[in-house]
Amino acid sequence: MTDEDTPAIRALDDRTVRQIAAGEVVERPASVVKELVENSLDAGASRVSVAVDTGGTEGVRVRDDGRGMTESEVELAVEEHTTSKIAGIDDLESGVGTLGFRGEALHTISAVSRTTVRTKPRGGDSGTELRVEGGEVTAVRPAGCPEGTVVEVEDLFYNTPARRKFLKTTATEFDHVNTVVTHYALANPDVAISLEHDDREVFATEGRGSLESTVLSVYGREVAESMVRVDHEPESGAIDAVSGLVSHPETTRSTREYLSTFVNGRYVTARVLRESVLAAYGGQLASDRYPFAVLFVDLPADTVDVNVHPRKMEVRFHEESAVEDAVEEAVRSALLEDGLVRASAPRG
Ligand code: ADP
Ligand code: MG
Repeated sequence: MTDEDTPAIRALDDRTVRQIAAGEVVERPASVVKELVENSLDAGASRVSVAVDTGGTEGVRVRDDGRGMTESEVELAVEEHTTSKIAGIDDLESGVGTLGFRGEALHTISAVSRTTVRTKPRGGDSGTELRVEGGEVTAVRPAGCPEGTVVEVEDLFYNTPARRKFLKTTATEFDHVNTVVTHYALANPDVAISLEHDDREVFATEGRGSLESTVLSVYGREVAESMVRVDHEPESGAIDAVSGLVSHPETTRSTREYLSTFVNGRYVTARVLRESVLAAYGGQLASDRYPFAVLFVDLPADTVDVNVHPRKMEVRFHEESAVEDAVEEAVRSALLEDGLVRASAPRG
Protein backbone atom coordinates (compact mmCIF):
# COMPACT_ATOMS: atom_id res chain seq x y z
CA MET A 1 0.00 0.00 0.00
CA THR A 2 1.22 3.44 -0.88
CA ASP A 3 0.70 6.48 1.25
CA GLU A 4 -2.06 7.72 -1.01
CA ASP A 5 -4.10 4.59 -0.34
CA THR A 6 -3.92 4.98 3.40
CA PRO A 7 -6.92 6.94 4.58
CA ALA A 8 -6.15 9.76 6.96
CA ILE A 9 -7.52 9.27 10.45
CA ARG A 10 -9.43 12.34 11.47
CA ALA A 11 -11.68 13.43 14.29
CA LEU A 12 -15.30 13.78 13.23
CA ASP A 13 -16.92 17.12 13.90
CA ASP A 14 -19.53 17.34 16.65
CA ARG A 15 -22.42 17.57 14.28
CA THR A 16 -21.45 14.36 12.48
CA VAL A 17 -20.87 12.56 15.78
CA ARG A 18 -24.32 13.63 16.97
CA GLN A 19 -26.04 12.55 13.76
CA ILE A 20 -24.39 9.13 13.92
CA ALA A 21 -25.40 8.73 17.56
CA ALA A 22 -28.94 9.85 16.74
CA GLY A 23 -29.23 7.12 14.13
CA GLU A 24 -28.42 4.53 16.78
CA VAL A 25 -31.42 5.51 18.87
CA VAL A 26 -33.89 6.73 16.28
CA GLU A 27 -34.06 4.58 13.21
CA ARG A 28 -37.71 5.02 12.26
CA PRO A 29 -41.02 6.31 13.64
CA ALA A 30 -41.45 3.14 15.73
CA SER A 31 -38.25 3.99 17.64
CA VAL A 32 -39.68 7.41 18.50
CA VAL A 33 -42.88 5.76 19.69
CA LYS A 34 -40.92 3.28 21.80
CA GLU A 35 -38.90 5.97 23.56
CA LEU A 36 -41.90 8.21 24.22
CA VAL A 37 -44.08 5.38 25.53
CA GLU A 38 -41.26 4.25 27.83
CA ASN A 39 -40.99 7.79 29.18
CA SER A 40 -44.74 7.89 29.82
CA LEU A 41 -44.65 4.57 31.65
CA ASP A 42 -41.60 5.67 33.65
CA ALA A 43 -43.57 8.81 34.59
CA GLY A 44 -46.16 6.60 36.29
CA ALA A 45 -48.91 7.18 33.73
CA SER A 46 -52.15 5.24 34.02
CA ARG A 47 -53.17 6.30 30.51
CA VAL A 48 -50.95 6.54 27.42
CA SER A 49 -52.39 7.51 24.03
CA VAL A 50 -50.33 7.13 20.90
CA ALA A 51 -51.42 8.72 17.62
CA VAL A 52 -49.44 8.54 14.40
CA ASP A 53 -49.95 9.96 10.95
CA THR A 54 -48.92 8.21 7.74
CA GLY A 55 -47.25 5.37 9.59
CA GLY A 56 -45.56 7.89 11.88
CA THR A 57 -43.52 9.43 9.07
CA GLU A 58 -45.62 12.63 9.19
CA GLY A 59 -46.19 12.78 12.90
CA VAL A 60 -46.11 10.95 16.21
CA ARG A 61 -47.97 12.13 19.30
CA VAL A 62 -47.79 10.48 22.70
CA ARG A 63 -49.95 11.82 25.51
CA ASP A 64 -49.84 10.66 29.12
CA ASP A 65 -51.28 11.48 32.52
CA GLY A 66 -47.97 10.87 34.26
CA ARG A 67 -46.12 13.10 36.67
CA GLY A 68 -45.34 15.84 34.14
CA MET A 69 -42.50 18.34 34.26
CA THR A 70 -41.97 21.89 35.45
CA GLU A 71 -40.62 24.48 33.04
CA SER A 72 -37.04 24.06 34.22
CA GLU A 73 -37.33 20.27 34.13
CA VAL A 74 -38.57 20.17 30.56
CA GLU A 75 -35.82 22.56 29.45
CA LEU A 76 -33.27 20.19 30.95
CA ALA A 77 -34.97 17.06 29.64
CA VAL A 78 -34.21 17.88 25.99
CA GLU A 79 -30.52 18.47 26.65
CA GLU A 80 -27.90 15.81 26.06
CA HIS A 81 -27.51 13.08 28.70
CA THR A 82 -30.04 14.46 31.14
CA THR A 83 -32.07 12.01 33.18
CA SER A 84 -33.96 11.90 36.46
CA LYS A 85 -33.68 8.13 36.58
CA ILE A 86 -30.13 7.43 37.70
CA ALA A 87 -27.51 9.54 39.41
CA GLY A 88 -24.44 7.52 38.55
CA ILE A 89 -22.98 4.13 37.73
CA ASP A 90 -23.76 2.75 41.21
CA ASP A 91 -27.45 3.03 40.44
CA LEU A 92 -26.92 1.04 37.26
CA GLU A 93 -25.10 -1.72 39.07
CA SER A 94 -27.77 -2.08 41.70
CA GLY A 95 -30.34 -2.43 38.91
CA VAL A 96 -32.58 0.20 37.32
CA GLY A 97 -36.30 0.00 37.87
CA THR A 98 -37.16 2.25 34.95
CA LEU A 99 -37.32 1.52 31.23
CA GLY A 100 -34.98 4.40 30.37
CA PHE A 101 -31.92 5.78 32.08
CA ARG A 102 -29.56 6.98 29.35
CA GLY A 103 -31.04 10.41 29.10
CA GLU A 104 -30.62 10.58 25.36
CA ALA A 105 -34.01 9.91 23.81
CA LEU A 106 -35.66 13.34 24.02
CA HIS A 107 -32.46 15.05 23.03
CA THR A 108 -31.92 12.78 20.06
CA ILE A 109 -35.50 12.81 18.82
CA SER A 110 -35.68 16.58 18.99
CA ALA A 111 -32.39 16.85 17.10
CA VAL A 112 -33.82 15.09 14.04
CA SER A 113 -37.36 16.51 13.97
CA ARG A 114 -39.60 19.37 14.99
CA THR A 115 -40.70 18.43 18.50
CA THR A 116 -43.21 20.10 20.79
CA VAL A 117 -43.56 19.13 24.45
CA ARG A 118 -46.54 20.33 26.48
CA THR A 119 -46.37 19.38 30.10
CA LYS A 120 -47.73 20.16 33.54
CA PRO A 121 -46.67 18.55 36.80
CA ARG A 122 -49.27 16.84 38.95
CA GLY A 123 -50.81 19.40 41.24
CA GLY A 124 -48.93 22.20 39.46
CA ASP A 125 -50.80 25.34 38.54
CA SER A 126 -49.20 26.08 35.21
CA GLY A 127 -48.10 24.19 32.17
CA THR A 128 -45.23 24.74 29.75
CA GLU A 129 -44.85 24.41 26.02
CA LEU A 130 -41.38 23.85 24.66
CA ARG A 131 -40.54 23.69 21.00
CA VAL A 132 -37.33 22.30 19.53
CA GLU A 133 -36.45 22.34 15.84
CA GLY A 134 -33.50 20.27 14.71
CA GLY A 135 -31.93 20.48 18.15
CA GLU A 136 -32.48 24.23 18.67
CA VAL A 137 -34.97 25.32 21.31
CA THR A 138 -37.17 27.82 19.47
CA ALA A 139 -39.82 28.54 22.09
CA VAL A 140 -40.54 28.07 25.79
CA ARG A 141 -43.80 29.55 27.02
CA PRO A 142 -46.52 29.01 29.57
CA ALA A 143 -49.36 26.93 28.19
CA GLY A 144 -52.70 25.81 29.46
CA CYS A 145 -52.65 22.03 29.44
CA PRO A 146 -53.84 19.11 31.53
CA GLU A 147 -51.54 17.41 34.06
CA GLY A 148 -49.17 15.05 32.33
CA THR A 149 -47.17 15.32 29.15
CA VAL A 150 -47.78 15.38 25.41
CA VAL A 151 -44.86 15.03 23.06
CA GLU A 152 -45.50 15.72 19.41
CA VAL A 153 -42.83 14.83 16.86
CA GLU A 154 -43.26 16.18 13.34
CA ASP A 155 -41.14 16.06 10.21
CA LEU A 156 -38.94 13.24 11.44
CA PHE A 157 -35.51 13.30 9.71
CA TYR A 158 -36.36 16.55 7.89
CA ASN A 159 -32.77 17.65 8.45
CA THR A 160 -31.19 14.26 7.69
CA PRO A 161 -32.45 13.48 4.18
CA ALA A 162 -30.28 10.37 3.88
CA ARG A 163 -32.14 8.84 6.82
CA ARG A 164 -35.50 9.97 5.59
CA LYS A 165 -34.82 8.05 2.36
CA PHE A 166 -34.51 4.81 4.33
CA LEU A 167 -38.07 5.01 5.60
CA LYS A 168 -40.27 2.30 4.12
CA THR A 169 -43.90 2.44 3.03
CA THR A 170 -46.59 3.78 5.33
CA ALA A 171 -47.86 0.23 5.86
CA THR A 172 -44.44 -1.08 6.90
CA GLU A 173 -43.69 1.84 9.20
CA PHE A 174 -47.11 1.53 10.78
CA ASP A 175 -46.58 -2.22 11.31
CA HIS A 176 -43.49 -1.44 13.34
CA VAL A 177 -45.34 1.16 15.38
CA ASN A 178 -48.23 -1.23 15.99
CA THR A 179 -45.86 -3.99 17.13
CA VAL A 180 -44.13 -1.69 19.62
CA VAL A 181 -47.34 -0.31 21.13
CA THR A 182 -48.87 -3.79 21.29
CA HIS A 183 -45.93 -5.12 23.29
CA TYR A 184 -46.15 -2.29 25.83
CA ALA A 185 -49.92 -2.76 26.09
CA LEU A 186 -49.51 -6.50 26.74
CA ALA A 187 -46.75 -5.92 29.29
CA ASN A 188 -48.78 -3.29 31.16
CA PRO A 189 -52.39 -4.44 31.56
CA ASP A 190 -52.81 -1.94 34.38
CA VAL A 191 -52.20 1.00 32.02
CA ALA A 192 -54.84 2.09 29.48
CA ILE A 193 -52.87 2.22 26.24
CA SER A 194 -54.36 3.24 22.92
CA LEU A 195 -53.16 3.54 19.35
CA GLU A 196 -54.59 5.69 16.56
CA HIS A 197 -53.45 5.77 12.94
CA ASP A 198 -54.56 8.68 10.74
CA ASP A 199 -57.33 9.52 13.23
CA ARG A 200 -58.69 5.99 13.30
CA GLU A 201 -58.53 3.92 16.47
CA VAL A 202 -56.49 0.74 16.05
CA PHE A 203 -56.92 -0.51 19.62
CA ALA A 204 -57.45 0.74 23.13
CA THR A 205 -56.91 -1.31 26.26
CA GLU A 206 -58.92 -0.82 29.44
CA GLY A 207 -55.99 -0.65 31.81
CA ARG A 208 -57.84 -2.48 34.54
CA GLY A 209 -55.15 -5.04 35.11
CA SER A 210 -56.55 -8.05 33.27
CA LEU A 211 -54.31 -9.70 30.69
CA GLU A 212 -57.35 -11.43 29.13
CA SER A 213 -59.12 -8.15 28.48
CA THR A 214 -55.90 -6.59 27.19
CA VAL A 215 -55.53 -9.45 24.69
CA LEU A 216 -59.17 -8.96 23.70
CA SER A 217 -58.57 -5.27 23.01
CA VAL A 218 -55.36 -5.86 21.10
CA TYR A 219 -56.00 -9.06 19.13
CA GLY A 220 -59.80 -9.26 19.02
CA ARG A 221 -62.41 -11.76 20.13
CA GLU A 222 -61.46 -14.81 18.06
CA VAL A 223 -57.95 -14.85 19.48
CA ALA A 224 -58.95 -13.87 23.01
CA GLU A 225 -61.51 -16.67 23.23
CA SER A 226 -58.99 -19.28 22.18
CA MET A 227 -56.45 -18.32 24.84
CA VAL A 228 -55.47 -20.74 27.59
CA ARG A 229 -54.06 -19.54 30.90
CA VAL A 230 -50.46 -20.44 31.76
CA ASP A 231 -49.57 -20.31 35.42
CA HIS A 232 -46.57 -22.23 36.58
CA GLU A 233 -44.06 -22.06 39.38
CA PRO A 234 -41.25 -24.40 38.39
CA GLU A 235 -39.70 -26.58 41.05
CA SER A 236 -36.17 -25.75 39.98
CA GLY A 237 -35.02 -22.62 41.75
CA ALA A 238 -33.69 -21.03 38.58
CA ILE A 239 -37.04 -19.61 37.47
CA ASP A 240 -39.60 -17.94 39.71
CA ALA A 241 -42.64 -18.17 37.48
CA VAL A 242 -43.91 -18.64 33.96
CA SER A 243 -47.33 -17.13 33.31
CA GLY A 244 -49.52 -15.63 30.63
CA LEU A 245 -51.74 -16.81 27.81
CA VAL A 246 -51.21 -19.08 24.81
CA SER A 247 -53.64 -19.88 22.01
CA HIS A 248 -55.45 -23.05 21.04
CA PRO A 249 -53.30 -24.99 18.50
CA GLU A 250 -55.79 -24.13 15.80
CA THR A 251 -55.66 -20.40 16.35
CA THR A 252 -52.48 -19.58 14.50
CA ARG A 253 -50.90 -17.22 12.03
CA SER A 254 -48.25 -17.72 9.40
CA THR A 255 -45.51 -15.79 11.25
CA ARG A 256 -43.86 -16.01 14.67
CA GLU A 257 -44.73 -12.36 15.21
CA TYR A 258 -47.52 -13.12 17.69
CA LEU A 259 -45.29 -15.11 20.03
CA SER A 260 -44.51 -12.36 22.53
CA THR A 261 -42.20 -13.09 25.41
CA PHE A 262 -41.39 -10.90 28.39
CA VAL A 263 -38.61 -11.38 30.89
CA ASN A 264 -39.09 -9.70 34.25
CA GLY A 265 -41.78 -7.54 32.69
CA ARG A 266 -39.80 -6.38 29.64
CA TYR A 267 -40.50 -7.44 26.09
CA VAL A 268 -37.57 -9.46 24.78
CA THR A 269 -36.70 -11.53 21.76
CA ALA A 270 -35.16 -14.86 22.62
CA ARG A 271 -35.12 -17.77 20.23
CA VAL A 272 -34.98 -20.22 23.11
CA LEU A 273 -38.27 -18.91 24.56
CA ARG A 274 -40.08 -19.07 21.24
CA GLU A 275 -38.79 -22.55 20.49
CA SER A 276 -39.82 -23.81 23.93
CA VAL A 277 -43.35 -22.53 23.44
CA LEU A 278 -43.56 -24.22 20.05
CA ALA A 279 -42.14 -27.47 21.45
CA ALA A 280 -44.91 -27.53 24.04
CA TYR A 281 -47.49 -27.90 21.29
CA GLY A 282 -45.82 -31.21 20.46
CA GLY A 283 -46.68 -31.45 16.78
CA GLN A 284 -50.25 -30.16 17.18
CA LEU A 285 -49.54 -27.13 15.01
CA ALA A 286 -49.99 -27.29 11.27
CA SER A 287 -46.73 -26.83 9.45
CA ASP A 288 -45.58 -23.22 9.16
CA ARG A 289 -48.31 -22.09 11.56
CA TYR A 290 -47.56 -20.33 14.82
CA PRO A 291 -49.74 -19.75 17.87
CA PHE A 292 -50.36 -16.56 19.78
CA ALA A 293 -48.54 -16.32 23.07
CA VAL A 294 -48.15 -13.63 25.69
CA LEU A 295 -45.72 -15.23 28.05
CA PHE A 296 -44.04 -13.75 31.10
CA VAL A 297 -40.92 -15.39 32.51
CA ASP A 298 -39.79 -14.12 35.89
CA LEU A 299 -36.41 -15.05 37.23
CA PRO A 300 -33.69 -13.55 39.41
CA ALA A 301 -32.28 -10.50 37.60
CA ASP A 302 -28.72 -11.67 38.13
CA THR A 303 -29.30 -14.83 36.09
CA VAL A 304 -30.11 -13.04 32.87
CA ASP A 305 -28.10 -10.65 30.71
CA VAL A 306 -30.21 -8.11 28.90
CA ASN A 307 -28.60 -6.38 25.98
CA VAL A 308 -29.40 -2.84 26.94
CA HIS A 309 -28.63 -1.37 23.54
CA PRO A 310 -31.54 1.00 22.99
CA ARG A 311 -32.76 -0.78 19.90
CA LYS A 312 -32.21 -4.38 20.88
CA MET A 313 -34.13 -6.49 23.30
CA GLU A 314 -32.08 -9.63 23.32
CA VAL A 315 -31.44 -11.69 26.42
CA ARG A 316 -29.11 -14.47 27.40
CA PHE A 317 -29.95 -16.81 30.25
CA HIS A 318 -27.25 -18.19 32.51
CA GLU A 319 -29.25 -21.38 32.95
CA GLU A 320 -30.70 -21.72 29.51
CA SER A 321 -31.81 -25.33 29.74
CA ALA A 322 -33.66 -24.72 33.00
CA VAL A 323 -35.52 -21.87 31.31
CA GLU A 324 -36.25 -24.04 28.30
CA ASP A 325 -37.66 -26.84 30.45
CA ALA A 326 -39.71 -24.52 32.62
CA VAL A 327 -41.33 -22.75 29.67
CA GLU A 328 -42.08 -25.93 27.78
CA GLU A 329 -43.48 -27.56 30.92
CA ALA A 330 -45.58 -24.50 31.76
CA VAL A 331 -47.15 -24.22 28.32
CA ARG A 332 -47.59 -27.95 27.89
CA SER A 333 -49.40 -28.39 31.20
CA ALA A 334 -51.68 -25.45 30.42
CA LEU A 335 -52.60 -26.99 27.05
CA LEU A 336 -52.96 -30.46 28.58
CA GLU A 337 -55.28 -29.17 31.24
CA ASP A 338 -57.48 -27.84 28.49
CA GLY A 339 -57.25 -31.13 26.61
CA LEU A 340 -55.58 -29.38 23.72
CA VAL A 341 -52.53 -31.60 23.37
CA ARG A 342 -52.18 -35.35 23.81
CA ALA A 343 -50.11 -36.36 26.80
CA SER A 344 -48.16 -38.69 24.52
CA ALA A 345 -47.54 -36.07 21.89
CA PRO A 346 -43.99 -36.32 20.57
CA ARG A 347 -41.63 -33.64 21.76
CA GLY A 348 -40.54 -30.87 19.56
P1 ADP B 1 -34.31 8.84 30.07
O1 ADP B 1 -35.68 8.28 29.86
O2 ADP B 1 -33.25 7.85 29.73
O3 ADP B 1 -34.12 9.46 31.42
P2 ADP B 1 -35.10 10.79 28.09
O4 ADP B 1 -34.32 11.66 27.18
O5 ADP B 1 -36.04 9.83 27.47
O6 ADP B 1 -34.07 10.03 29.01
O7 ADP B 1 -35.89 11.72 29.11
C1 ADP B 1 -35.16 12.65 29.90
C2 ADP B 1 -35.91 13.00 31.18
O8 ADP B 1 -37.08 13.76 30.87
C3 ADP B 1 -36.42 11.80 31.96
O9 ADP B 1 -35.43 11.27 32.82
C4 ADP B 1 -37.62 12.40 32.72
O10 ADP B 1 -37.17 13.04 33.90
C5 ADP B 1 -38.13 13.47 31.77
N1 ADP B 1 -39.28 13.00 30.98
C6 ADP B 1 -39.26 12.56 29.70
N2 ADP B 1 -40.49 12.21 29.28
C7 ADP B 1 -41.33 12.43 30.32
C8 ADP B 1 -42.75 12.26 30.51
N3 ADP B 1 -43.54 11.77 29.54
N4 ADP B 1 -43.26 12.59 31.72
C9 ADP B 1 -42.46 13.10 32.71
N5 ADP B 1 -41.13 13.26 32.59
C10 ADP B 1 -40.56 12.94 31.41
MG1 MG C 1 -36.46 7.77 28.01
